[in-house]
Amino acid sequence: MSHPTPDQLEADAAARLRELLPRVAALKPRERMAIPSQRMPEQDPDARGRNFGEVALGFGEAQARLEALRCLDCRSKPCIQGCPVRIDIPAFVQAVARGEYRQASDVIKRDSLLPAICGRVCPQESQCQEACTLAKVFKDPQQAVSIGRLERFVADWERQQGMGVPSVKAETGRRLAVVGSGPASLVVAADVRREGHGVTVLEAFHKPGGVMIYGIPEFRLPKAIVQLEIDTLTAMGVEIRTNFVVGRTRRLQDLLGEDGYHAVFIGTGAGLPKFMTIPGEELVGVFSANEYLTRVNLMKAYLPEAGTPLLPCRRVAVIGGGNVAMDSARTALRLGAEQVTIVYRRTEAEMPARIEEVAHAREEGVVFQLLQNPVRILGDEHGRVRAMECLRYRLGEPDDSGRRRPLPIEGSEFTMDVDGVIVAIGNGSNPLLTSTAPDLATNRWGNIVVDENGKTSMDRVFAGGDIVLGAATVILAMGQGRQAAAAINRLLAADGSRVSRSVSRAG
Ligand SMILES: Cc1cc2nc3c(=O)[nH]c(=O)nc-3n(C[C@H](O)[C@H](O)[C@H](O)COP(=O)(O)OP(=O)(O)OC[C@H]3O[C@@H](n4cnc5c(N)ncnc54)[C@H](O)[C@@H]3O)c2cc1C
Ligand code: SF4
Repeated sequence: MSHPTPDQLEADAAARLRELLPRVAALKPRERMAIPSQRMPEQDPDARGRNFGEVALGFGEAQARLEALRCLDCRSKPCIQGCPVRIDIPAFVQAVARGEYRQASDVIKRDSLLPAICGRVCPQESQCQEACTLAKVFKDPQQAVSIGRLERFVADWERQQGMGVPSVKAETGRRLAVVGSGPASLVVAADVRREGHGVTVLEAFHKPGGVMIYGIPEFRLPKAIVQLEIDTLTAMGVEIRTNFVVGRTRRLQDLLGEDGYHAVFIGTGAGLPKFMTIPGEELVGVFSANEYLTRVNLMKAYLPEAGTPLLPCRRVAVIGGGNVAMDSARTALRLGAEQVTIVYRRTEAEMPARIEEVAHAREEGVVFQLLQNPVRILGDEHGRVRAMECLRYRLGEPDDSGRRRPLPIEGSEFTMDVDGVIVAIGNGSNPLLTSTAPDLATNRWGNIVVDENGKTSMDRVFAGGDIVLGAATVILAMGQGRQAAAAINRLLAADGSRVSRSVSRAG
């Protein structure tokens, strides 16, 4: 597939837009549907497979307006129902079509605080775009209005204008501790701080941002974008304390007791890697995807001067078929591996990774070995990985997840030469905090149990994001943060009125 340059794509769109704009008010649905879906400008695959620069480059103005003109402004607005935080999608898309980007941004920000991030990483193809009328008419989700790309365009436009700092109400004297600094926590911190309450974010790592900083690689989500959101919080007066592990540095009970916080939000995510528990997983050269990506994204382990360098690998197998597996495989390529193979026990149709990420990985040269799974990892005399023994699979009846169950084919063993294995088969919740807070109710997977307001079994303690949902998505974490923040604001406001009533009685 040839890759047109961003300038070519923008010039083509500008020519088409010039032709359509004079009669835009009279455009019929048929004419709107005849506008071709705009292709995302991207770095050329041959070059990008070896650098960490962002792969998707973003629409230019003409591409964005032309794409927005495809929207039919449907009366039933099915796309809104597909959006987990219910952004008024037709309203923002119509504003883009008119070139009113500030208005588009205001519409999005009513419901989503992190549009530059969501526009890049949300699985729109299984949310708003899946529900879009155009996807149904063309029987192809790729033909939906590119809502995510338009969201990203608007957010990037706003960033270029210089983002202001949201206003904060007068100080109330009430204080919230937010544990973790992923998307759920950032949303809580912003929403609660805006009401004038003091907010302190406590983060275990040396950098805030959660998975958006340590997990999702730079080539999909530039760290500067996440950092800007964190800088905005700091400018609003949110205090961020890093290298602070709740459960070790302080316990949950200490925060509410001696430390004097009036409420706590827990957004500690799902950062505990799962392993296959097969022989050889302890060998040198076997990584969990978490460790691998964290060492690269956060500790810059690929730099010669890095304190904890990463073992160089030439032939890497990545086990799994989700976004984390794709990110690991594409990172391994960028670190110089000669061959990177995704090993997945089902077929591509069952892969949980975003279609776009699978396509990008393939374009960059990642090899897919499907219906296969390792049964043991083999080492050399130095305890380093040298090969992986795998089995072939076929698909049986659907299992509990609704996907067809992979069944091993007896006697189908074969060996694959590899010197690096990255295990990307999922994450669970880290028990560090929960095990030191016995009153905090959890379910059998270790996730914190909350009510519809994000309230946990402990008084004044709320939780949201992956620590509640299990490994999920940025937008769902944000949505939970929003809900919990509203309940926390109600609680702290009620505290405030109680305090002022008792002061006036004492007076
Ligand atoms: C590699 C990868 C790729 C992904 N790709 C996508 C994608 O494309 N699209 C998408 O929507 N989602 C994606 N996800 C999932 C998404 O990133 C998560 O669902 C989301 O980040 C969860 O947000 P959260 O706020 O619950 O916490 P997290 O982002 O997990 O952050 C939790 C934070 O809490 C900190 N913490 C943990 N325990 C403690 C403690 N005891 N004390 C203090 N701090 C603590 C952690 O260090 C971390 O910084 C991906 C996940 C991974 C791992
Ligand atoms: S469903 Fe699609 S076409 Fe209809 S209003 Fe939403 S984005 Fe526009």
